[in-house]
Amino acid sequence: MRVSHAPVYRRRRRVVLAVLVAIVGLGLGYGTGALVWPRAEAEAAVTPAKSPTPTETPEASSTPTPSATPASSPSASPTPSPSPTFDLTAYSLTDPDSPWVIVNKLNPIDPAEYAPEDLTRIAGMSSAATMRAEAAAAMSALHEAAVAAGAPFTVSTAYRDHATQSSLYYGYVNRSGQASADRYSARPGFSEHQTGLAADIHNGVCDLKACFGTTAAGRYVAEHAWEHGFVIRYPEGKQEVTGYIYEPWHLRYVGVELATALHESDVTTLEELFGLPAAPDYS
Ligand SMILES: [Zn+2]
Repeated sequence: MRVSHAPVYRRRRRVVLAVLVAIVGLGLGYGTGALVWPRAEAEAAVTPAKSPTPTETPEASSTPTPSATPASSPSASPTPSPSPTFDLTAYSLTDPDSPWVIVNKLNPIDPAEYAPEDLTRIAGMSSAATMRAEAAAAMSALHEAAVAAGAPFTVSTAYRDHATQSSLYYGYVNRSGQASADRYSARPGFSEHQTGLAADIHNGVCDLKACFGTTAAGRYVAEHAWEHGFVIRYPEGKQEVTGYIYEPWHLRYVGVELATALHESDVTTLEELFGLPAAPDYS
């Protein structure tokens, strides 16, 4: 009895094995394509693994792995081309409705009185702050993940209209002078907050201070915000590029694709990623 069943088991095992190889092959191909754009070429090296399927034919019982080895190496192109598949021109950098719009001291919002049409509250958070629908959903997901990881935070302010930014900025100017105000507050028409894509977060410790970056929430978003499509827009040591001091609390939604690209790259600002001029000051 056992003897007569043996080939069946063996063949079934081979079929299962072949299916597993195909699944792993597909999985790897998908993973590289979706996550690591500079290494997308790895996919080419993986695809040949799908060819062992012919092993499922009756001859399965003979030599163990004849078809798996020869097919893979010769057909795979050995030259690893570094060209990224990521398209840096996919969205406008100037249209305020674009998820990639660049707003800095050299690039004001145009038109200056722009207001998004899909502002919405952030679900799951007791905050009156609003963001554009897609950004609000992403913030909600980031917040949920941070809470689960023991790094809760709240959004203090997100969308600000032109008038609010104006009174805020001139309040700072009156208090500490324009030069000082320009280092941490945007002039009306130049604030990312007016796009509905930016949010300031806090948790009661080091609010609006550089040391926020060392808190649980600050460290969590520095490490994971990109997974939800956010970037730390004003990183440490980049004031000459972004025009702003280090703001570990200011998150900018750009979508997972671009946030991942920035995360994978060796630069830390959107200006550098897109090869835009540094914007240390108003022109
Ligand atoms: Zn901010």
